[in-house]
Amino acid sequence: MNFEVLTLFPHSLEPIFASSIIGRAVNKGVISVKCTDIRDYTLDKHRKVDDAPYGGGYGMVMMCQPVVDCIRAVKSRISGSTRVIYMSPQGSLFDQKKAEELTKYDNLILLCGHYEGIDERIIELEVDEEISVGDYVLTGGELPAAIVVDCVSRLIDGVLPASECYSEESLQNGLLEHAQYTRPRVFEGLEVPEVLINGDHAKQCRWKEEQSIQRTERKRPDLLEKKNEQSEEKKE
Ligand code: SAM
Repeated sequence: MNFEVLTLFPHSLEPIFASSIIGRAVNKGVISVKCTDIRDYTLDKHRKVDDAPYGGGYGMVMMCQPVVDCIRAVKSRISGSTRVIYMSPQGSLFDQKKAEELTKYDNLILLCGHYEGIDERIIELEVDEEISVGDYVLTGGELPAAIVVDCVSRLIDGVLPASECYSEESLQNGLLEHAQYTRPRVFEGLEVPEVLINGDHAKQCRWKEEQSIQRTERKRPDLLEKKNEQSEEKKE
C-alpha cells in the first residue's frame, strides 16, 4: 500500500515514518510513505500558499492553486485505486472499522490543512472524503495523517509479524483486549494471574475472553452496547 501525505511541513513527519514498525515496513517495501511539500507547487513568486479569507475573519486559508496542482501531480505519478482524504475536524470520526475499509485502496492521498484550513473548492474538486481523528481542533493535519498511516499500515500483510498481532487487539472485534503481563512474576507485591502461568491453553483463552468482556463493560460500556445492537441486527 502507498501513502502520499501532502503537507506544508514534510520535515515534521518524515522522522515518524522512518522509525519503529512503520520505518521497518517501509524499508522492507511492504508499504511506501511519501511526503510531498505543497509549497513546491505554488506558482507565486514569493512561494505563497495561503491568503486572507473572503468575508473577513481570523487567520489564513490555504489557496486552491498549489493544493489542487499538488494533488493532481501526485495522482498522475501513481497507479491503482486511490482515495483522496482531507484530514479535517469536520470529517467523519476515524475508527478501527474505517481503518479496515481504507486497506482496500492501493493509494491513500492524505491532505493536511494548516492555519484556518483550506479553500472549500479544493474539497469540491479533489477530495473523496474528510476524516477527523477526534472532536478537538489541532493546528494542522500532520498528526492526524500520521495516525491514519500508522493505524492502516498495521493491518497490511507483512507490517506486523502475524495477523494475530492485530486480530486480538482492542477494538478489532468491538471489545477491549484483556490485561497483559510480562516478567517479573511479582512486582511490588502484585502477582501475575495464576492462570497465565500454570493454566492450560484452553483455560487461558477462556480467561482472556472473560477479561476482555469485563474490561469493556467497565471501561467502555458503549462498545458493548454497540456490539450487542449489531448482533441483534444480524439476527433480524
Ligand atoms: N477552521 C477549521 C475548522 O473550524 O473546521 C479548522 C482548521 S485547523 C486549525 C487546521 C488544520 O488542522 C485543518 O485544516 C485540518 O487539516 C487539521 N485538523 C485540525 N483538527 C483536526 C482533527 N480533529 N482531525 C483531523 N484534522 C484536523
